Amino acid sequence: MAVAFETPTLNDPPAGGRSFLNGTLAASMERAARLALAVLDVPCALVTFVGSDRRSFFAGSWIRPWFTHDSGAVVRSGLLTAILEQSGPLICGDARTSRVRALREAAESLDFTAMVAVTLRTEGGEPLGVLCAFDDTPREFDPRHATVLEDVASGVALEIELRRALADRERRERQLQHDSLHDPLTGLPNRSLFMRRLAAATARARRDDGAFALLFLDLDNFKLVNDSMGHHVGDDLLVAVARRLEQQLRGGDLVARLGGDEFAILLERVDSARDAALLAERVLESLATPLTIGGYEYVSSASMGLVLSSSASEQPEYLLRSADMAMYRAKSAGRARYEMFDRAMHAEALARLQTERDLRVAVEREEFELFYQPLVSIDTGVVVGVEALLRWRHPEQGLIAPLQFVPVAEDTGLIVPIGRWVLRSACRQAKQWHDELALSEPLALSVNLSVREFAQADLVKEIVSVLEETGFPAQSLQLEITESALIDHGNPAVNTIAELRSMGIRIHLDDFGTGFSSLSYLNRIPLDALKIDRAFTSAIDTEPRSRDLVRAIVELGRALGLGTVAEGVTRENQLGMLRAMGCRFAQGFLFSPPVPASELPALVVSLPERR
Ligand code: C2E
Ligand code: CA
Ligand code: CA
Repeated sequence: MAVAFETPTLNDPPAGGRSFLNGTLAASMERAARLALAVLDVPCALVTFVGSDRRSFFAGSWIRPWFTHDSGAVVRSGLLTAILEQSGPLICGDARTSRVRALREAAESLDFTAMVAVTLRTEGGEPLGVLCAFDDTPREFDPRHATVLEDVASGVALEIELRRALADRERRERQLQHDSLHDPLTGLPNRSLFMRRLAAATARARRDDGAFALLFLDLDNFKLVNDSMGHHVGDDLLVAVARRLEQQLRGGDLVARLGGDEFAILLERVDSARDAALLAERVLESLATPLTIGGYEYVSSASMGLVLSSSASEQPEYLLRSADMAMYRAKSAGRARYEMFDRAMHAEALARLQTERDLRVAVEREEFELFYQPLVSIDTGVVVGVEALLRWRHPEQGLIAPLQFVPVAEDTGLIVPIGRWVLRSACRQAKQWHDELALSEPLALSVNLSVREFAQADLVKEIVSVLEETGFPAQSLQLEITESALIDHGNPAVNTIAELRSMGIRIHLDDFGTGFSSLSYLNRIPLDALKIDRAFTSAIDTEPRSRDLVRAIVELGRALGLGTVAEGVTRENQLGMLRAMGCRFAQGFLFSPPVPASELPALVVSLPERR
């Protein structure tokens, strides 16, 4: 007998189910229904899927034209529940006389008489749906009919399970892929996705001769918010900023979080520098509107660096560095502003790159020397110590001062091997002086430690081994650190300092007065002395404000039980004022500039005689 099919009626599927059930699954449903019709020779077959709540459904029925009703009615009729409640097939030769009320009612409302139904289950037994066959006249179904129907149902169930598993896996893979390219906090693309897009933009720009721009953005004073208000407030602020940045984008642009409080925006197709500058201005403006976080209002700002694809080498890494460099320019120019990367910066960047290369070679070849500057007792004029100051003997450029290469060494991490060399050489040299000069008070040795060196986990171990190796006494060693070493490393710094001091090593806070000069750090962290920055000492006799400041620092030192060392003393009257204020130690060109090791012993003898 020929069977005519009607297009299945598709009711609302469970959430997210439509795309999955449409298409290929509809074909499986139809196949199952056709099989049921052919094997049982019934006028109607129906496949219904149930959702995990057993109510939401998605059904298709294949019926002969004379048997009309919609499959949704089957579900509404309570028939579905009756079938699902059965442990095996539900077979009913005449539903009108059934003992099951739901069946009687369904037969009435749906206008069928005989029925056989089975449940489609997952391997774990969870119901996926039902497959029913209806006839409009009473008939005795053979149990084999139910068996056939069950076979059909389990085939479809298996197919559905496989498809679900596949779809799940695809979804998980997509999720993993997404996670690896996005920042979990803000949901923005991360550095790795940004670099990919940047590389693509570079390739496209080269091909089409188009231009794009890169905006590098670093929040101002974010650390302060994080430290004072807690990390969750910091996190909320980052998320809020991310949303603001997104609002400023034009179609095709991309904003990413590169890490910490750093963001970057890729501006595709920029016609002029003006275009890019306009965006930077919009971003500044949008951040200037207060953000409400946890009931407080924050006005955040950012320093930004802009680079146009045409103004720098087109290597993605280099573009990012260029934008970063311009951002630093904006920071030092007062924050909450943007700077455009230009030719001068380009030249500077190239020079820096060269310095970096040369510096790596210099570390291998140990092209460094130490100069020593005496530390003098203001009362007696006696040389009580020396500060080791690093020089680079460059094969072509001659002697280079640390300010020209120490920052590069810090950025690249090269400062760590260099610093180890400094410590070892200085201790060895100072030990030799101890042995040769036979002073009543052995010379103290001051060694500078940059933030990066100070943060090394094995710092203490390294120092212990240098002291053992050189025989230099810990009691004569003074380490000079800056406030950033304390601020950037918080508690670990406190522990490191405590450990070093327990060995007898003294800790001096360098460049005091130029950083945060936070009283809470001074109170919390045990130190031995403050080194008053040259900027104040040098103006002590010309500017009343500097004089007052130096006096205040000396007083502060006294109150906290800390010594004070004045740096950069160049004139006799500066020394007199320092003496009157009660500052005990000084260093500066008035006594001596830093000198090579060979010239130091003569100074130790001659300096007190000049007083
Ligand atoms: P700093 O620790 O503040 O060192 C004092 C600097 O002031 C030295 O500059 C010294 O030559 C200079 N100076 C001393 N007295 C006077 C003076 O009376 N007038 C003037 N105008 N300058 C004076 P230098 O040797 O160029 O060192 C600069 C900075 O480089 C140091 O500042 C220190 O931060 C860093 N540095 C030097 N050696 C090392 C090192 O071995 N390791 C690390 N991490 N940093 C170092
Ligand atoms: Ca120093
Ligand atoms: Ca200093």
